[in-house]
Amino acid sequence: MRFDVVTIFPAMFGPVFGQGVIGRAIERGLVELRAHDLREHTHDRHRQVDDMPFGGGPGMVMKPEPVIEAVESLRATNPGPVILMEPWGERLDQRLAGELAQEPGLIIVCGRYEGVDDRVRTALNGREISIGDYVLSGGEIPAMVLIDATVRLVPGVVGDPGSLAQDSFANEMTGWPQFTRPAEYRGMTVPDVLLSGDHARIKQWRRQQAAQRRAHSKELKKT
Ligand code: SAH
Repeated sequence: MRFDVVTIFPAMFGPVFGQGVIGRAIERGLVELRAHDLREHTHDRHRQVDDMPFGGGPGMVMKPEPVIEAVESLRATNPGPVILMEPWGERLDQRLAGELAQEPGLIIVCGRYEGVDDRVRTALNGREISIGDYVLSGGEIPAMVLIDATVRLVPGVVGDPGSLAQDSFANEMTGWPQFTRPAEYRGMTVPDVLLSGDHARIKQWRRQQAAQRRAHSKELKKT
């Protein structure tokens, strides 16, 4: 799967994706990830990507031409849909990440400043996606969140298929309590069942715990 990101801060992506699961997926050729400097698509001496908002108001707005031209140049090599990171967009969740992981690629646009000229939406027919109801200073971290959640669901990326299929997405999100050595630390012990070697009982215990966590998670999310 191929990810092309359009951003004024391409250097932000290197350190995040050079390591861990995504870093390995890239090394193994399962995923290709390129961050493109929006300023390469400006035509003026100052390489300006923003301008004042029509109608007045604070801050700057991202100009339409560089974004649209950057995306158009990527369409030749990336057949996937265009994603616009927007705080008001469709909420990213595990289901949506799974849907995006079926695509051959994604072209992701990261906004900055007060946002992007609205004609970018009109021209690119993109899908607006939000990572949650809060406003960040740019689309780069949201794009990283979206890429991370999606790449894990690309076949072959997460080594042990069991760790994705364990039960369900809901289960993967909440999981069950995990422990490793030492069996006792500052008086806190590991549940006996996990040391019992009785795999049927362990499985049952984990199911119960995961169900409890899911219920607790639902409570926490009720607002
Ligand atoms: N003034 C704008 C906020 C712009 S934030 C407003 O009130 O809507 C600048 C950029 O950060 C946005 O264009 C978007 O690309 C990104 N961004 C901020 N919060 C985000 C979120 N929760 N999800 C996705 N993108 C977000």
